[in-house]
Order: sequence, then C-alpha cells, then structure tokens
Amino acid sequence: MEGYGGSILYIDLTDGSFKKLEMTKELSSKYLGGEGVAVKIFTDHVNPKIDPFDQRNVIVIAPGLLTGLPVPTASKTAFVSKSPLTGTIAESIMGGGIGAQMKAAGLDAIAIIGKSKNPALLSIDDDLVRFENASPYWGMFTRDAAKAIKEDYGDFVVATIGPAGESLVRYACIECEDRQAGRAGLGAVFGSKNLKAIAIRGSKDITIYDPDRLIHLALGWQESMEKSNVFIEDTKYGSGEFLEWVNAERGVFPTKNWQEGVFNERKKIDPYYWAPKYAIKNKACFACTKACGKLFVVRDGPYAGTVLDGIEYETLYALGSQCGNPDIEALARANELCDQYGIDTISTGVVIGFVMELVEKGLIDEEELGFDCRFGIAEAVPKMVELIGRRDGLGALFGEGVLRISKTIGRGCEDYAMHVKGMEPPAYDVRGMKGMGLGFMTSSRGACHLRSGFYALDLTGRFWRFSGVDRLSPIGKGEAVKLMEDFMMVYDCLGVCKFSRSFFKIEGFIELLDTAIGKSFKEDDLLLIGERINNLKQLFNLGAGVGRESYRLPKRITHEPIPAGVSKGAVLTVEEAEKMLSDYFIARGWDENGFPSKEKLAQLGLG
Ligand code: SF4
Repeated sequence: MEGYGGSILYIDLTDGSFKKLEMTKELSSKYLGGEGVAVKIFTDHVNPKIDPFDQRNVIVIAPGLLTGLPVPTASKTAFVSKSPLTGTIAESIMGGGIGAQMKAAGLDAIAIIGKSKNPALLSIDDDLVRFENASPYWGMFTRDAAKAIKEDYGDFVVATIGPAGESLVRYACIECEDRQAGRAGLGAVFGSKNLKAIAIRGSKDITIYDPDRLIHLALGWQESMEKSNVFIEDTKYGSGEFLEWVNAERGVFPTKNWQEGVFNERKKIDPYYWAPKYAIKNKACFACTKACGKLFVVRDGPYAGTVLDGIEYETLYALGSQCGNPDIEALARANELCDQYGIDTISTGVVIGFVMELVEKGLIDEEELGFDCRFGIAEAVPKMVELIGRRDGLGALFGEGVLRISKTIGRGCEDYAMHVKGMEPPAYDVRGMKGMGLGFMTSSRGACHLRSGFYALDLTGRFWRFSGVDRLSPIGKGEAVKLMEDFMMVYDCLGVCKFSRSFFKIEGFIELLDTAIGKSFKEDDLLLIGERINNLKQLFNLGAGVGRESYRLPKRITHEPIPAGVSKGAVLTVEEAEKMLSDYFIARGWDENGFPSKEKLAQLGLG
C-alpha cells in the first residue's frame, strides 16, 4: 500500500510474544493513519471499564499517514491509551523520530499489552523484535537512558520514560529526541507495564504513489510557508511569540492559578526578551522544515548548565505565569527537570500553581513541604518539579494531579482546582474565549486546546471556514467546535503539525493524499473520517462512565470574572456552558447525555 509501512505489530509484554498483521485497505480508508488507526486498534482491544494501570490496558503507537514522507511538518506520531489521569481514552501526539523509523521498519502501528516481569526495553530493528533487559536504565533520566541505550545497542531512535513514569506519576510523559508525548500520563502506562523504552530503527523504503509530484508539492508548500510572517516569527521566537499579544490585546493569559488573566511581569518570560539572550540555535521535530524549537542554554548563575529544547508557549504559562514566576532561568531549569524526570510541563505547572494557592490559603503546611512555595517564589518551581518527579514526601500526592489532590485535601479547595475531566488546562483563559471553553469541555481527554484548536478562532476571529467569530459570545459555538474537532482530527491522522494550519488547510491535504497514496478524497470524506474517530472515542468514554457531569468547567471559570485587563469582567457562566454543550451534542447527533443516535452511528459505519 503506497504511503504505508504495511504491518501492525502486536506485542504482549507478559509472555514476550509478538505477531504482525497486515495493515488493511479498510483500516486505511476509514481511519487514514496516526491517531485514527491507533484509536481503532485501541478501542477494538480494550474494555473501557479496566483500570488504566491494569495490564490489559493497551498503548498503541501509530505514525501519521504522511509521517516519514517528504512533507513539511509531517513529523507526528500518536500514542493512544486509557489515561491514568482522566480515565478516558487519551492521545498524545509527539514530534520525535519514532514514527518515521516505524514506517521505515514497515510498521503503521505498534500495540502493546501486558506487563513485563522485569524492566523491559523493546527493541525493533527492521523485522527483528527483541525484549531486552532494561534494569540498567531503570531510574535514569530520559536523556541519560536514551544515551545509554544508544551506546549499548547502536544507532536507534529511542522513546523512553523517566523516573516519573516508572513511579506512576499520573501525568508522566514519553520522551523521544527532546520531544514529548506529553499529555494525559501515557508515560505512566509505560511504567505500569515495566516498559522503560522502545528502541527502533528501520531501513526500508516507503513506496509513494507519485514521488516526483509529491516532491514538487512539498517544495511549493515550503516556499509559501517561508514567505509567511508566521514562519518568520515562529522560527525566530518559537511558539511563545504571541505571548505578549495574548496578554495585552486579549487579556486571556492565565496567571496565578487562574486568579488573573494578565501576567504583569510577562516581558521577563516573553521570547522577544529571552530568545536573543539564551537561544543558541533552532531545533525541530523530526525532519520538520519549520524549526520552531530553540536550544536554550543558561551559562551562569544558580541555574548554570541548564540546557533544553524549549521553551514553548504552554510551558511559559504553566511554569511561569501560572506560578507567578517571572524568572526565565528558574523556568528553564524547571522545564529541563520536567523533561528529564519525564513529566508533562502543563499539568506539572498547574499542579504547582494550585499548591501555591493552597499554601497561601493555609491548606498545605509549608513546613511539611520543606520550602517557601508561594506565587512569585521562582526557586520553588524547580524544587516542586523535583519533589513530584521523585514522588518525595508530599510529591507523592502532587503526582496524582489536581483533581485527586483536591479530593484528598477537601475543605473547599475543589472550587479552585483547575481541570476538566481530571486534565489540567493549557494557556487560554476561556472566560474570555468561549468557544475554547466549550473545546475544553468536549475534548475526549479533558481540558485541551488541541482537540478543537478553537483558540485560533477565538483569538483572531477567523480561520478556515469561519470569520467574524466573537470570542465572548457562546452563540454558534456548538456547531463550530464540532466541525473544528473533526478537522483537527485529520491533522492527527496524517501526522501533520497543527502549527502549519495556516498553510495546508484541507485542500492541501486532499492534494497530498492524492499524490502520496493515490486516493482521491473530497473535503467531506476527510471530515467524515474525523467525525467517525471522534464518535469512536466518545463510545469508549461512555463505556468508561464519562457522563455529562464530567464535562463541567472549574468553578473559577464559571463564577469568578477575569479581574483586570482587556477581558476584565469576562466569565463563562454555567448556563452558557450548558447551552453550548447542548448545541454541540445536537450538532454531533448525540442525545443530551452524549450518546450517539443509531442513525449517526450507521452514517459513520459504526452501527
Ligand atoms: S512547526 Fe515546530 S512543533 Fe511543528 S513539527 Fe515543526 S518543529 Fe515541531
């Protein structure tokens, strides 16, 4: 099959067995690749009711259909499993080289079940599959483990967890080449299976339907990308380049555990300030020609020796404004520690900001914590990351995430526990971005900006088919969020970075697919595939007991208006949220409790 590796590898860690099955035309035409294929394999094999740490949980890894092909920004690989953080189906999309190596080894997906008795390293060298002893690497930081595995086994691409995944921090991530499958705790699923790492390399050619035309198209996309302002700003300053604008022009940059929507000290964490001083070169995801990452180096002072690939917009919020932290060097150190322990920076920062508020309100004893931990104390941020990464003392509780911390501590702190479905939110204050607020609610993995990508519409007022979007109005958001979720799913099936969304749009994908796999799609075909996958995920979540009450936004968003800035007074009321959710369910063809109708399932080929 043109564009594909050709096989799906099933691994059982319990008895060290494996089998390969063919990648079928049906799977390709109904689910494309990447997240779509991973969701289909996952939902076929997992009972939604099992505990995420049950060895019957499966983690599926699938490169996007275009990943590994010469297409600008097509670098992504989907990881799908039942999340230890949210109890929902969850995907985490990574830009490391694992997916391209999978394709070159002839694999369109790897599905891993069971639990190894001892720490395991799964090694895949083209057709050779081996289960190696990972005991020497257990306990190592992600970077050290990847380096040691390469020294011992050769020039493989390595995806590994750190100590946090091993000790089941519920928001642990998987790291590969300084890129993370960051959200939803899928690193802890690796840990629960005693799987430290996967080392993979492939040498096979991927057949392309019309290789000359694909190169011609790719060069055209690259040329138009390079002419755009987005390309110029992103490659100079990274994803945080619009931080000042979100603060000053929109007033929706969450600050101090979402008590505020503007970070007054933002200039100190703005990449326009730090990139010229600390970024020594650009870094990219695998084979990406729009390198928006930065190699960030701290040369002196208390954090000298800090070296990382970053710092992304979301992290500037999570470990910066969310904690009231204006110290870019402390922030960088905390970011590096997150990467090394293997924990998601967004969830980590939201947990730290929440703990700071609990300390300030006298609900956590600073003496028990062992250091000053209040908003604005920069050195507390890296200290907290170490506590969580090691699960030391109170770090054991903090590694459970905001929802579980709030349930353990109680005494009213649930009111300012920032999460949806147990997932800590990203950097968009949805009191002033109502479509994005609905996107937080409806995202299958909990508070997430990427499922719908609706922040682009709320912040700019237009994107793709939409124009004149009023960020403060709940009207029309149900239908719009539904459509955006189905469209964004296409990106995750193809493995194309959403930072290219101003270039490719759906017409670009149609052309690329025609050329790469020789199949003609219409816009509606692709959107229907996105819709099918989103419905499949919904069926899983319903089976897992995720009901309408789980969609609720945090009380701070529905009851406390943004206190200052351009969005002063904005709040997303319960009534608005409920109305938008009902509109969304109607647009999806679901009933009031989120159950798809028989007709809808039949239309999607899921009945
Ligand atoms: S644009 Fe940035 S995030 Fe996207 S693939 Fe390229 S380097 Fe990675």
